[in-house]
Amino acid sequence: MRITGFRLGLLRIPLRTPFKTAIRTVTAIEDVVLCLETDTGHFGYGEAPPTVAITGDSLESILKALHEVIAPALIGRECADIDGNCRIIQSCAVKNTSAKAAAEIAVYDLAAQLAGLPLYRFLGGGTPELATDLTISVNDTATMLADCEAALQRGFTALKIKVGKSPETDIARLAALHARVNGRARLRIDANQGWTVEQTLQVMQALEAQTGAFELLEQPVPASDIQGLQTIKSAGLLTPLMADESAFNLEQVERLLALKAVDIINIKLMKTAGLSQAIAIAETCYKQGTPCLMGCMLEGAISASAAAHLAVAKAHAITMIDLDGPSLGQFNPIDCNAVFDEAVIRLSDRAGLGITSLTHVTWLD
Ligand SMILES: [Mg+2]
Repeated sequence: MRITGFRLGLLRIPLRTPFKTAIRTVTAIEDVVLCLETDTGHFGYGEAPPTVAITGDSLESILKALHEVIAPALIGRECADIDGNCRIIQSCAVKNTSAKAAAEIAVYDLAAQLAGLPLYRFLGGGTPELATDLTISVNDTATMLADCEAALQRGFTALKIKVGKSPETDIARLAALHARVNGRARLRIDANQGWTVEQTLQVMQALEAQTGAFELLEQPVPASDIQGLQTIKSAGLLTPLMADESAFNLEQVERLLALKAVDIINIKLMKTAGLSQAIAIAETCYKQGTPCLMGCMLEGAISASAAAHLAVAKAHAITMIDLDGPSLGQFNPIDCNAVFDEAVIRLSDRAGLGITSLTHVTWLD
């Protein structure tokens, strides 16, 4: 099986409610879709969302990198040579982690199809069922309480609460959410770089005095403030500290582990530039006894299911799941071998990503 061509398209799925964090507001999933064509009639699919505020990658830059550089470099390549194909994807451009992720997802889809295996079994196997949390956007407390209730009604038992807008308000709303939800769902806090070190310690100490530990605290300070993470980690908070925006690649993760700056690493394919480096990060963290969470951006079911396959295959290292992209959309236009059934993600045994149809994609010429 050889790659003979490619197509690019735009996937658009309106969200149920606007997605709001400390750094952005988004109303729809609007992702680039890559389809690699082969001489056997098989198709390999990849997907990448624009997250200019996080990765620096826009729709335009992802399309341009895939169209002009990455996808052309894969033409003529054997699908069986997964390591060689990943090397080409990673070496043909610097940065552009989202475009590279889409390309790696597509070549892994093809390699697993060629092997006749669902991607999770191609990656080593595992129990094909995961439980994901759901993100609650930052809003006024009443809206966040209502969103939490709605999530609990949908069956979610872990909620990721977006805060980081202002420390005083964040203490009040987190305490209110904890009082309402405690015992019914685990609460994860994501401040999306919105606090300083001092604010983080103030908020968490005040909060923990009222509530006890939360399940985790994600990226309270700016991505570059590794020393800040270290200071927070050594302050003895009850809540484990997780790196997200500070942990894009293996080099950054190794540094965080060496400095003992965090307790948990959030792996996202759009930060790691695809599966190959995500696997390396998961194995490195496992060896050093640091658990990982599998996360995603605002992604549809192509890339979110690739992340789910990876999380199943690396379940020894990836112990928490935040793959709620497809659940935030008003509908799921991707028929693949991952069923996103609210809190539960189940993978079937169709080969590769098992994509049989996708609608709501506008293919570009
Ligand atoms: Mg985050």
